[in-house]
Amino acid sequence: MEQSQRWHLRGARWLDVTTGETSQRDLTLAEGVIVDHASDAVELDVSGLTALFGLWDCHAHPGGLMYDPDATGYFEAAPDRTIRAGENLQEAARMGVTGIRAVSEADEIDLAWSRAYAAGTPAGPRVRGAGRGIRTTAGHGTASPRVFTQLHSELVVDGPAEAARAVRILVERGAHWMKLMLTGGLYSPHETVDGVQFTDEELRTLMEVAQLRGLPVAAHCGGSEGAVRFAELGGRSVEHGYTLDERAAAAMAANGTWLVPTVSVTHDREFIEAEGWPEHAARRAVETAPLHAAALHACREAGVRIAVGADLNPIGPRLHRELEMLERAGMDRRNVLEAATVGGRALNGFGDASTPEPGVIADLILVEGDPMAELHGLRAPRMVFAHGRRLVG
Ligand SMILES: [Zn+2]
Repeated sequence: MEQSQRWHLRGARWLDVTTGETSQRDLTLAEGVIVDHASDAVELDVSGLTALFGLWDCHAHPGGLMYDPDATGYFEAAPDRTIRAGENLQEAARMGVTGIRAVSEADEIDLAWSRAYAAGTPAGPRVRGAGRGIRTTAGHGTASPRVFTQLHSELVVDGPAEAARAVRILVERGAHWMKLMLTGGLYSPHETVDGVQFTDEELRTLMEVAQLRGLPVAAHCGGSEGAVRFAELGGRSVEHGYTLDERAAAAMAANGTWLVPTVSVTHDREFIEAEGWPEHAARRAVETAPLHAAALHACREAGVRIAVGADLNPIGPRLHRELEMLERAGMDRRNVLEAATVGGRALNGFGDASTPEPGVIADLILVEGDPMAELHGLRAPRMVFAHGRRLVG
């Protein structure tokens, strides 16, 4: 583990993603946050480098095999997934992704890494996790092929009593988030992207118990009907939102519900082809892409806040690709950078600051060039800090 946790970075150019402007600014870090001054800080000359808050992937599955048509993952043990998740998270951090929100992970592997990195053993990115996702029998995430349906990595609930119990299990495990599989998805032939899968009673119970226990809730949610119900029950983030309309966008804006659009899964045709998605899923993804771009547009028009997540592995490369895909889906660069940095922090409860003022978490990256002009430098940062520890540089 890195010894010193006090740093003085001299001569940085700070990129303010709310304006797109850079300005000269020294940065001092102590005990994981930005401070005005710290005695015994290690001096680092970073002149010429552009500094900004680290990137967030707010929709990740660090230990997941995606996509996994042969269901290889169902025959792995927890240690295999744990090792893969750790390597994935470390690589992401080296690529400037200093914050990861895991939204459904087998065996609560995400929560174990979160605790380890927060303690600095080993040093690593900031992880906020939902532990295992919650779905219904035959719901989104059901094993495919069907012969493996008894093997599942989520909490499967049917009826309000099981729903309440699942939320309480997550609380016991130390989850930071709860993740619901509210509607179907792109990949499974037995469901539609907008078909709601919980009964009203199940959904109300899940949301009520989460609220009682202070867990923010993220929902895998393709369509408007689910999004409206979820937003009105206090849901914190809609994931994907493939076919959201103006009515859903208005309900989300009114209730402070975010959108994490994960546009790569409909827009990145090169990836979908290279991964060999089954024909039905690839066709559904391509057909959904224009609706997905329109949904993102409707949400932005309505004032819904946006955070960034790729929903693909490995996290580092796919998150950088997601930034490009968001531009392909109609967002401008400054908005993409704001959503990927300030947005991720705010969604995860680390405040709304857009500048490195005292007290904000010192998860920072320093890159060559200006990301406003050229995104590529972001992929290989010269220096990376998370939890105030130096991970790169
Ligand atoms: Zn996902």
